[in-house]
Amino acid sequence: MALVVGVVVVGGYFLLPRQGLAQSLVYNAVGLVYAVVMVVGVRLFRPARPAMWYLFAAGQLMFVIGDVIWEIYEYVLHLSPYPSPADIFYLACYPLLAAGLVLLVRERHGRDLAGLIDAAILATGVGLVFGVFVLHPIAAEAGSVLERLIGTAYPAADVLLLALVARLFTGGGQRTVSTKLLGAAALLMLVADVVYAVLNQYSSYDGGNPLDALYLMSYVLWGVAALHPSMAPSTAPVDRARPTGLGRRRLVTLTASSLLAPALLFVPATMRHNSDLYAVAAGAIVLFLLVAARMSGFVRQVQRQAGQLEDLALHDDLTGLANRRHFLRRLSEALGAGRPAVVRINVNGFKNVNDQYGHTVGDRLLIALARKIEKAAGGGGLAARMSGDEFAVLVPDAAGAPAVLNRIARAFAVPTTAGDHALLMRVSIGYAEAGDTSEPLELLRRADIAVFAAADDGEPCRYTPELDATAHEEASLGADLRTALDAGDFRLVYQPIVELPHGRLIAVETLVRWTHPVRGPIGPDVFIPIAERTGVIVELGAWILRAACHQAATWRATLGPDAPGRISVNVSPRQLARPGLAEMVAAALADSGLPAGCLTIEVTETAVLDGGPSLQALHDLRALGVLIALDDFGTGHSSLTLLRTVPAQILKVDKSFIDEIATPGGSAVIAGALIEIANGLGMTAVAEGVETADQADRLDRLGYRLAQGYHFGRPAPELPVSGDIALEAGRVPVAG
Ligand code: C2E
Ligand code: CA
Ligand code: CA
Repeated sequence: MALVVGVVVVGGYFLLPRQGLAQSLVYNAVGLVYAVVMVVGVRLFRPARPAMWYLFAAGQLMFVIGDVIWEIYEYVLHLSPYPSPADIFYLACYPLLAAGLVLLVRERHGRDLAGLIDAAILATGVGLVFGVFVLHPIAAEAGSVLERLIGTAYPAADVLLLALVARLFTGGGQRTVSTKLLGAAALLMLVADVVYAVLNQYSSYDGGNPLDALYLMSYVLWGVAALHPSMAPSTAPVDRARPTGLGRRRLVTLTASSLLAPALLFVPATMRHNSDLYAVAAGAIVLFLLVAARMSGFVRQVQRQAGQLEDLALHDDLTGLANRRHFLRRLSEALGAGRPAVVRINVNGFKNVNDQYGHTVGDRLLIALARKIEKAAGGGGLAARMSGDEFAVLVPDAAGAPAVLNRIARAFAVPTTAGDHALLMRVSIGYAEAGDTSEPLELLRRADIAVFAAADDGEPCRYTPELDATAHEEASLGADLRTALDAGDFRLVYQPIVELPHGRLIAVETLVRWTHPVRGPIGPDVFIPIAERTGVIVELGAWILRAACHQAATWRATLGPDAPGRISVNVSPRQLARPGLAEMVAAALADSGLPAGCLTIEVTETAVLDGGPSLQALHDLRALGVLIALDDFGTGHSSLTLLRTVPAQILKVDKSFIDEIATPGGSAVIAGALIEIANGLGMTAVAEGVETADQADRLDRLGYRLAQGYHFGRPAPELPVSGDIALEAGRVPVAG
């Protein structure tokens, strides 16, 4: 709006009689009105730092006063003295505008040295040209010293303005509409000044010239800039973190500016005056120094960025610990200096945390674990994150390893806090000492083997050459497992679960068998843990589940009431923790037509110890109507609390307690206590690994109703058809 009015007024200005009083009055009125507009803008938008606007307004006012004085001389006194008091006001305008621009630049760009140098290069180059073609001729003109002084003061002030405007547009910060308008206003004024000076030099200028349009529009733009809402930036726009770079456009501008000095030497006019040559030489030196300063700043910036990149390349983003590359580098240094040890820490069940609580909690957990490990590493050790949930500590002197291991074990014995959750994480710890090897990768590999062999209870496992052999075997077996699945090398056998004391068949437990094409039969104790580690267990488990359900359904169809009432299937911790187990079970049941109540899923206590998804999976299974048995009960880190949280109906009392009751000096205390607990909680106890009639008899007297063991039947591909086991209708001994 203010802009439109301004343009209209400027247009109208030229309709008035040339050089008349009316034209002069309009001219001055425009200057005055837009100076006032600036003050109005300040009142309207209340910028945090209003000082610069007052300076601009004051500068403009000076100009108007100067004009008025000049006009009084011209129209009233009919004099045209030069210099006149008007010049004092004209010249006073420049320092005010310059001060305002300095404040503006500081507010918008902060103290950006690179931008400042760029502006100086631009101003020096252009100023030099200006000096040679405008300043010099004026100074060379005849006249008093004062006249020449004032004559050069104008262009010099313009160069100062130019530098500031250049500065405004060379800084890194963002430019608002208001800033652009201010820049345009200053630029218009500059251009007008230059044209004025040149015209004055080579012709004679009189008012009403189109040049006035430039001055007038400059007035208008100063005012309009103050009326744009962006004149009061809401956020601090100073972006100090980002130094001014060297873009293509900037490079071209700077190169052109710094080439102006030598280029001047090709202009014949400059060659005539010695003083001009000196000016060009001085300008060239200044430009050279400025460019050198700019380049050194640029080089420093590149070095700093390279440093930051290196830092990034050596550290893990999330935890800030050293990364694998950094770790290996430091390890090879340590191997050169002494006998270091490498500790590997693998966090188990981290994936579950991610699945259950989401990645934010997972990330926080990793950070908290990293801090623990860093602390345990101590001052001399280097803690690193090797991959997802795998960490390592470099102990520079192997003698310090026991202390570090101790601290790590203690740190992981208590829960780790991640957000609102306190999680007890199980870790495997392995370590290797530099002995006969000075190869960083080999030492790391040995620590890997050790951590692979370690249990997940935080008990450190030290590397020995024997571990290598086992690891090798595990690796080759692991590879064979996958092929075996495709080749159909797995079979299922079934072991009876019978009722005491008669031995009536109640249920069967499914057990998997593997006949390796070269090595022959391999026990599940050997290959199930490997299948778990390699992940094959998921596929293998699914196959077992489907096959067992089909077998049970077939028995029910063919044997009728003589079929075992239930079938047990073992589910490994990893299977339980994976999402989708309940869906898989439901599918196997639907496929085979086996009622859910005929299926028991056996899980170990440790599998559900960490709660989370595993516990949820059990609840989901329970909701299907499937029964849950706690396997090997009493051997894990079982707590009785577990019995309340886990929705299990069956307790399988571990063989070790059964063995005790009949061995000389052994005791029946635990077996006796466990049947009491089971009964008390409304659960069914199954005695595992019953091998003798004596054991069976004692168990019967202790109150056990169900038992399983070689005494009643070995695992076999078929159901037992003769012997002591009466094939009767399987009564489901558990309510529900
Ligand atoms: P488990 O679930 O505790 O299975 C019982 C183990 O004890 C079986 O060994 C069985 O053959 C053995 N056993 C039964 N009665 C007696 C006895 O009177 N005396 C002795 N000494 N042992 C007896 P197996 O088949 O070698 O299985 C070992 C473990 O492998 C199982 O322990 C189970 O944890 C795992 N496993 C076996 N089959 C599967 C399976 O299909 N899936 C999963 N995930 N794990 C399985
Ligand atoms: Ca079992
Ligand atoms: Ca068992």
